This record gives sequence, C-alpha cells and structure tokens, in this order.
Amino acid sequence: MSKYNPYDNVIKTIEEVATLLKYKPSEYEMLKHPERELKVSFPVTMDDGTLKVFEGFRVQHSTIRGPGKGGVRFHQDVNADEVRALSAWMTFKCAVANIPYGGAKGGVVCDPMKLSDSELNRITRAFTNGIAPIIGPERDIPAPDVGSNPQTMAWMMDAFSKLKGYTVNGVVTGKPVTLGGSLGRGDATGRGVSFTVNNIFAKLNIPLKGTTAVVQGMGNVGSVSARLIHESGMKVIAVSDVSGAIYKEDGLNIPEILEYLSKDKRNLLDGYKGEGLKRISNEELLELDTTLLIPAALENQINDGNADRIKAKVVVEAANGPCTVEADEILKKKGVVVVPDILANAGGVIVSYFEWVQNIQRLAWTEERVNTELKHLIDLAFENVWNSAKEYDVALRKGAYIVAIKRIVDSMKLRGV
Ligand code: GLU
Repeated sequence: MSKYNPYDNVIKTIEEVATLLKYKPSEYEMLKHPERELKVSFPVTMDDGTLKVFEGFRVQHSTIRGPGKGGVRFHQDVNADEVRALSAWMTFKCAVANIPYGGAKGGVVCDPMKLSDSELNRITRAFTNGIAPIIGPERDIPAPDVGSNPQTMAWMMDAFSKLKGYTVNGVVTGKPVTLGGSLGRGDATGRGVSFTVNNIFAKLNIPLKGTTAVVQGMGNVGSVSARLIHESGMKVIAVSDVSGAIYKEDGLNIPEILEYLSKDKRNLLDGYKGEGLKRISNEELLELDTTLLIPAALENQINDGNADRIKAKVVVEAANGPCTVEADEILKKKGVVVVPDILANAGGVIVSYFEWVQNIQRLAWTEERVNTELKHLIDLAFENVWNSAKEYDVALRKGAYIVAIKRIVDSMKLRGV
C-alpha cells in the first residue's frame, strides 16, 4: 500500500479552504466525516470450483445536496481510506459541477485482469447484494470507475432489479445504451477533459495545434482524452499503461494505438509495434518535457518525490487525486498550472446525471444534446472556478474547493443541519 493516505489529503484541503473562507469549525466539521460507510464480505465460487471470500466497500460521504453518487472501483489495492477519499472527492465534484448529488464511492478488492467474465459477473452480483440496502435511484447511484465498465453496471442493475422484483435502471449509471445507458456516457469523462484543456489553454493563450501533450494511463478516460486532444491538433508525444510507456518526439499515431488496444482487452502498450518508438518507464513519462500532462491513472502519481522534476506547464487531472497536497505546493512554486480533478474529470458524473434524468423520465436524449449540455456545464464550472481562484488569489484547486464548499455549507445551513 502507498505511503500516502488520500483521505489525509482530503482533510487538509477542507481545513485550508474552510479557514480561507473564515468558516467556524462547526460549520464544516461534518465534511471531514463520511456520513455512512459499509464494508461487506461475500463468498464467490471461482471457475475452478474453489470458494473465495472477497471484500468490498460503499461509502456515502455526503447526501446534503442530493443522493450519493460515484463509481465502483475494482482493483487489488482498494482499501477503506481510498474509497473514503474518492467518495469525498465525488461530493466536491458534484458541487463544482452544480448537479444535485452528494458524493459516494464503492470498491471491490480484486484484480479484474486476473478474473474471467463469469467470475466478474458473480463478484459483481454478490457485491451488489451486499450493498443493496443502501443504494437505489433516490439514495445512492453507483457508476463505473477504474476496473469496472458498462458490463459491470448491467450486472449490478440486474442484481438490484432481481431483489426488487422489477427493472430499476436508474440504480446505476454508465450502463450499456440498450439497457437505459446514455449516448455519450462512454466518452464523457475524456470529453470533459478535452473541453477543460480547451478552456485552460484559452485562458493562458496557448494554442492547441502542434502543442505537446503526455497522457498517463490508457483506460477509458486516458484513451478518450488522448483521442480528442489528438483530434484537436495537439501532438501527443507519450502515453502509458500498466505495461510501461511509449514516447515519440514528433508525435504518436494515437488512432493506431487505440485501435491496437481495443482489439483485445489483453492488448497492452508493450505489445504495440509502432515505428520510431522509444520505450520508457512510467516515472520517465511523468517527467517529460511537454506543455500538457494529463495524469489519467491512479492517485498520488505526482508527489513530493517527483514534483520538482515535472516539466509540464499545465497539468490537467483526468484521474482522481493524482497530485498530493505536497506536490501541489511544489508545482505552484514552479509556476505549473494544475487544473484539479474535481473540475477536469467531472464530465463523467455530469453525463451520469443526464443518464439518471433520462431513466427517471423514461426519455432518451440524442448524443448531440448530451454533448452540448455537457459542454455547457463544464464551461460554466470552469468559469466559476477560474473566477473564484482570481477572487481569492489562490490556485485553481483551491478555487474549485471554494466553489464546492460554499455550495455545500450553504445547503447544510438551509437544511438546518
Ligand atoms: N467514477 C467516475 C468519477 O470518478 C464517475 C462517477 C459517476 O459517474 O457517478 O467521477
């Protein structure tokens, strides 16, 4: 397990921003404590007939502004503090995006790369049964995260519906489109990241065309971000996944790489044979000389150990929590502009919100409508964050937390909490 506890990061940020806003501790103390935490253990029969007990979590950090909302992570390193931090980030993300949700997150301790589809199906169902008492379209709505996908959501929806006795498609978002998923949800987080890149580059007067970019992580978010910034004319010089990183000074062939990766779910970058590539480590990738760096993998990637070697001018956080609090300070001193996760990667949960709205109303929006409304909310959130950072003379992360914490504290006051 990492030496960094992401929940410590959350508490530090809340303290700093609440102090800046001159709030009394009693006004924001609750935000440091998740409202509800559930840990479940469940037995699953593996393909070879053996029985294995898995552990999972669902944490509802806040339901002040609406039902809990947030993904379910399937990863071998999932632990209570990580899920706690991820759930708190969802609260702030939904508040920055100004959508009517609180924040929640789930996780199952397992390595999905080592499990068959039928094992994953059984794990997902057993986990859903375990957390069923606290989820539902009005209570808490899970979605995909690292290691889960639309198929996982279809299984969750089915397991929950079996318990209820009728189909409840609004219980999860990020479903396949045939089961009530929204058009545009698959690309939504990466699309939001690319809108954010456009927004920050416009503010900083940096052109997109020919400007260098590096993307860490080629999961759903990283690959869609890479595709869209490549289409907008940026020169993506390096990308990475769990197998390592590839680098090409005059720009990688992103469409070819994405086609290779999507051909088979076992395909990783180490098997991709492009011309003139240099293979480098994930650490080297983060330290490349580039204008834009998009960390789109896991937490704590940029920390006190490597922050002073980061050469990027702009970091757009597509992952949740990729920079530690210490790294933020170092990057700020170096003049690196960091666009925080709770703004930059909000596209996913924004389109999840559209999906839930469509489910509740039994409607199906066009993809064009989804993308237009997504752009509207991301651009609005960006302007709010930018203006609050200017007003309080702070970095964008604090600007974003100011917007979020004000909205949440106002809601608590109005509700009389
Ligand atoms: N897992 C995504 C996130 O971290 C999406 C959550 C959702 O759509 O509810 O924002």
